[in-house]
Amino acid sequence: MEARIIEYVARLAVGFEDIDSFNSPILSRVYLEAVKNVALRVAVERGGVYYCGICGRGPYRRKGLYLHLKRMHGEEILDLVSEEVRRISSLAKRRGKV
Ligand SMILES: [Zn+2]
Repeated sequence: MEARIIEYVARLAVGFEDIDSFNSPILSRVYLEAVKNVALRVAVERGGVYYCGICGRGPYRRKGLYLHLKRMHGEEILDLVSEEVRRISSLAKRRGKV
């Protein structure tokens, strides 16, 4: 499951997978949202090349950044996703109370 989450984030970050149509049967709605939000943060595109949104290294081509994210930042990606899941859940809870 954790490997799948890292894989999803890396693929979405570099555009191997379209973020708007992305869906996964194994992720809950909150996780799906969290994965997308984190994917938007871990890659920075500038002038047709990509930089790592976590450590700033680059420039990379798509494939290079995809591999960099998976090899170097797996743990960080999982941390970011869990943080995001907590943030989304607490927002939803607060909204529920109103
Ligand atoms: Zn990096």
